[in-house]
Amino acid sequence: MNFKSHLDEFEVFSKVAQAAQNLGLETYLVGGYVRDLILKRNSKDIDFTCIGSGIKLAEEVAKQFDYHVPVSVFKNFGTAMVKLEDWELEFVGARKESYRLESRKPIVENGTLLEDLERRDFTINAMAISLNKEDFGSILDPFDGLVDIKKKIIRTPLDPSITFSDDPLRMLRAIRFAAQLDFDIDPDTFFAITENASRLKIISAERIIVELNKIILVKKPSYGFKLLFASKLLHEFFPEMVDLQGVDSVDDKSHKDNFYHTLQVLDNVCQVSDDLYLRWAAILHDIAKPATKRFNPKVGWTFHGHEDKGARMVPDIFRRLKLPMDDRMKYVQKLVRLHLRPIALVKDEVTDSALRRLLFDAGDDIEDLMKLCRADVTSKNNKKVKRYLENFDRVDQKLLEVEEKDQMRNFQPPISGEEIMEIFNLEPSKIVGEIKEEIKEAILEGKIHNNPIEARELMFSIAKKKGLEPQNKSPK
Ligand code: ATP
Repeated sequence: MNFKSHLDEFEVFSKVAQAAQNLGLETYLVGGYVRDLILKRNSKDIDFTCIGSGIKLAEEVAKQFDYHVPVSVFKNFGTAMVKLEDWELEFVGARKESYRLESRKPIVENGTLLEDLERRDFTINAMAISLNKEDFGSILDPFDGLVDIKKKIIRTPLDPSITFSDDPLRMLRAIRFAAQLDFDIDPDTFFAITENASRLKIISAERIIVELNKIILVKKPSYGFKLLFASKLLHEFFPEMVDLQGVDSVDDKSHKDNFYHTLQVLDNVCQVSDDLYLRWAAILHDIAKPATKRFNPKVGWTFHGHEDKGARMVPDIFRRLKLPMDDRMKYVQKLVRLHLRPIALVKDEVTDSALRRLLFDAGDDIEDLMKLCRADVTSKNNKKVKRYLENFDRVDQKLLEVEEKDQMRNFQPPISGEEIMEIFNLEPSKIVGEIKEEIKEAILEGKIHNNPIEARELMFSIAKKKGLEPQNKSPK
């Protein structure tokens, strides 16, 4: 296999080769770019390794262009980065790493190309393409990465147990690559993951979440989660999800396995959205089922209140996993809390008021909520699935009609607190909130329309009941 024609296609490779030649440095393309090139995946991040100083090479590369090319140097790591249009080029000298038992940090020394490749995590990431004159474009593949790509296998170049014990994050990376590429994990490599799973404890939550989110963002994340579960890596950082697994039976009545149900919902959501946080909402929608599970001899298994309890669990889970504690967390929390509401709207006799309330509570996230609800239909009975989905079509239609009439999605109170305070000469106080709340309730209930005239009329009658008199000033 030779990549000369690929290298000839892009100026950047000839420039790097020229710079390397000027300095007399043996230089190679390595890592993810080589893997992705073989897999025909598009990549704009390129790692170059030379036998010598990566920083000097980067500086020489910058000189090859007649315009200014900035070089970012990371002296501590001995690396340098060059950004060229949408390419990101990273330069580093070949290195050898040795780990000691007493420390997680390896001793890093200059090394040969082979030593550099063997410290890499997987055979598919441990190939190099030469940029040297004598064999420009030829591939160096000391660990049979090409064979593994062909066989669709993730395997470590060296003894997997040592590889994973040295840097336990590699176990998660193995599953991430398997999930992204739809590869199997070699049995010895997988066995070593199960043996070393508890070592993941020494890895920071920040590094773990990067890999986990990459798994969640693949086309069909259930595969990655099944590997995380089977290897017991999931148990190390996400016990709440592990608790979803299992089926209990009493008097021949069983509930479904909520772990596999959740994975199905997640895969379903992934078919209609790439949004990471909608995917997180799918993962967390039933997270409180284990905590709320009860057996009632008359009706069987129940999970009353799992949506509220689940929503309350979201912040702690986000905090621990180092997910963002901002609007994105609130969005997930909202979807978890509301995920049963649309089902209640399926009935024919559903009132406009119930529809208005859902639009009010969901706001602009109503479409995402409906996507989650549809994804939540996971029966094996196709007829049932079809019927449930048609029910949701009807709910969509009803929501649309009510929204057109009442504009509840971005509800703004037709009378502000300031206005109420001014009209009745009030200081900011509880009573102002009560009047506003009563007006909002009346609108949601359909007792008045969502407009300032009707709202003002109601405000005067509520205030009267509370013994308030409007001041003489005419309202604005
Ligand atoms: P992606 O861009 O999808 O994350 P990548 O393979 O380019 O994939 P990087 O994290 O950029 O991943 O790493 C670049 C290369 O460095 C990898 O291909 C691999 O050879 C090596 N590498 C990265 N992390 C590790 C690690 N923890 N242990 C060993 N080698 C690693």
